[in-house]
Amino acid sequence: MTTTNTMTTILKIEIYLLKIPYPHPFRIALASMDSAHNIVVRIHDSDGIVGIGEGCPPRFITGEAPETAFAAARLYANILVGKNPLEIETRLAELESFMLNNTAVRCAYDIALYDLLAKHANLPLYALLGGTKRVIYSNRTIGMDTSENMAATASSLVAAGARYLKIKLGNGLALDLARVRAIRYAVGPGIPFRLDANQSWDESTANSALSAMADLGVQVCEQPLAHWNEAGLKRVRERSPIPIMADETLFDTHDAFRLASNATVDYFNIKLAKCAGIHNALKINAIAEAVGIRCMLGGMSESLIGVSAGAHLLCACPNISLADLDSPFHFMEDPTFGGVDFQPDGAVTLHDAPGHGADVKPEWREKSQRVEVTA
Ligand code: MG
Repeated sequence: MTTTNTMTTILKIEIYLLKIPYPHPFRIALASMDSAHNIVVRIHDSDGIVGIGEGCPPRFITGEAPETAFAAARLYANILVGKNPLEIETRLAELESFMLNNTAVRCAYDIALYDLLAKHANLPLYALLGGTKRVIYSNRTIGMDTSENMAATASSLVAAGARYLKIKLGNGLALDLARVRAIRYAVGPGIPFRLDANQSWDESTANSALSAMADLGVQVCEQPLAHWNEAGLKRVRERSPIPIMADETLFDTHDAFRLASNATVDYFNIKLAKCAGIHNALKINAIAEAVGIRCMLGGMSESLIGVSAGAHLLCACPNISLADLDSPFHFMEDPTFGGVDFQPDGAVTLHDAPGHGADVKPEWREKSQRVEVTA
C-alpha cells in the first residue's frame, strides 16, 4: 500500500470538454438549457494512477462559459504538471493564487486530486474522507413549464418511486402558486417539496408566495431573491413559515461564514462547482454544522463523475442531510460510466472501488474536444 510517496509527480493531464445533449430543454428561472458542457480532467501520475474529476460551468451562475472553462483548465494544468498530486492543500492553493474564480474548473481538478489520493490509499473516496456508506435518496427535479405539464411530470416521477420533488419556479406569484398547488393535487400528501426560485422573486413576492405555500408540504425554499440581496434574504427568512436555503448567494467559505454569522438562512446548498470542490465543501459544511445550519449537496449538470464525488462526500458529512444529485437523468446519454448506481426513485448507491469509481466512456474521449498537457 502506498500512501505518501513523496516522489509521486504529475506526468500528464488530459482535458475534455463534453457536450451532452438533453432530449428536451430544461428550464429554470435563469436559463433554458438544451445541453450540458462539462470539463473533465484526467491526471496521470508517475505511479501509473489516474485521477478523474469533473466540473460543470454554468455561465449564469459561476460566470464560466465552455470556451473559457476549457482555456482555464489548460492554464491550470500548466501549474500542476511535474508536481506532487498528493499534496492537495498546496496544489489547490496554487491554482487559486494563480487565477481566482473559475470554480467549476478548479472543482474538476479538486475531484481528480481526491480521486488520485483515494486510489493511492486503495480506498473508496467516502472511506478516505472518514465516512460511512449509506443509500442516499436524491430528489427528482421538475423544470419550469405549465402547471399542467409540471403536475404530469410530478405524477410520473412519483409513480417511478421518487421520495422528494424539487420544483423550479420563477414566473411570479400567481403562476408559481398555481404550479405548486397543481403538483400537490397531482401527487397527494406525503412527498416533501423543495422549491427553487433561482433568484427570481422580489421581496414582497417571496413573502406572499411563502405564506401562501405554508400548508403545501414544502420542506425548504432555495434562493428566493437575487444572489446579492442578503439583507432581503434575512428579512424573508424571518417572516417565512418555510425554511430558506442559500444557493447562488453561497459560493465559498467566506460567504458561508458571513451567512452563518448573520443568521441569514436555515440551509446551505453546497455545490462542488461553486465552491471549487471537496476541499472547500468540507470547510463550508463545518462552518454550517457549528451553528446548526443543515446542508444540501446540490449540483449543476454533472455526469456520473461529479455526482459520484458528491455522493461520496455526502456519506462523509452527516450534516449534509439533503441530496439534489439527479442531473444525469436530464441527459440523452451519459458520457460516463461507473461510480454510483442511480435508480429512478432517486436512490444513489455507492460501490467500494477505489476513488469515486467513475470515468469517461472511451467513445466520448474520442469524439470530444480535448487537449493534453505534459510535464
Ligand atoms: Mg438552486
